[in-house]
Amino acid sequence: MNDSTDDRIELLRSRITTVADFPEPGIQFKDITPLLECPKAFPISIELLEEKVKDLGVEIIAAPESRGFLFGVPLALRMNVGFLPIRKPGKLPRKVHKVEYALEYGTDSVEIHADAVQPGQKVLLVDDVLATGGTMAACCQLVEKMGGVVIGCAFLMELTFLGGREKIPDSRVIHLLEETD
Ligand code: AMP
Repeated sequence: MNDSTDDRIELLRSRITTVADFPEPGIQFKDITPLLECPKAFPISIELLEEKVKDLGVEIIAAPESRGFLFGVPLALRMNVGFLPIRKPGKLPRKVHKVEYALEYGTDSVEIHADAVQPGQKVLLVDDVLATGGTMAACCQLVEKMGGVVIGCAFLMELTFLGGREKIPDSRVIHLLEETD
C-alpha cells in the first residue's frame, strides 16, 4: 500500500537537517544530503514534485547548479521531458544568455545556452531551497529572455520568512515543505 501524502512529507522533513551558522554566522542552513542518502526519501521527493506539477503541461525542466540539478534531472527523467542546466558564468561552452542579480554583498550571475528554450515553450524551474529568491528570479529572467514561459518554480523547501516568492511573480511557487521562521 502507498504511504499517504502526509507520511511521505514527514519522511522528507525528517531527512532535512538544519545546520546553524553555515556557511556564515546567522544562517540556518538546510542540509538535504541526508535525504539524498536515503533510498526511500529521495525517490519520494521526486514522486511528490511530479504530483504537484503534472497538470501544468511541463515541456522542459531547467535548474540552477548544483543542487537544482539533484532534483531537476530525476524529475525530468520521470516526466519524460528534457533538462536544461543553468550555470555559473564561464561553464557553458556555447553562446549564452546571462542575468546578473544582487546578493547581500555584491552580485552574482547565472547563464543558460542562448538557444536552449524555444519561444512559447513551457518551462518548469526546479531548485532545492527558495531563500531570498534572487537566484530563481534570475533563472526566470533567463527563460523569459528567450521567449519561454515559466509555468512554475518548484522547490523541495521554501523558507517563507525570507519572502523569496515576492521576487517570483504570478504565484508560480510550488513547494513540498515550508519553514515559517
Ligand atoms: P536565494 O537566496 O533564494 O537566491 O538562494 C540561493 C541558493 O542558495 C538557492 O539555490 C538555495 O539552494 C541556497 N540557499 C540559500 N539559503 C539557504 C539555506 N538557508 N539553506 C540551504 N540552502 C540555501
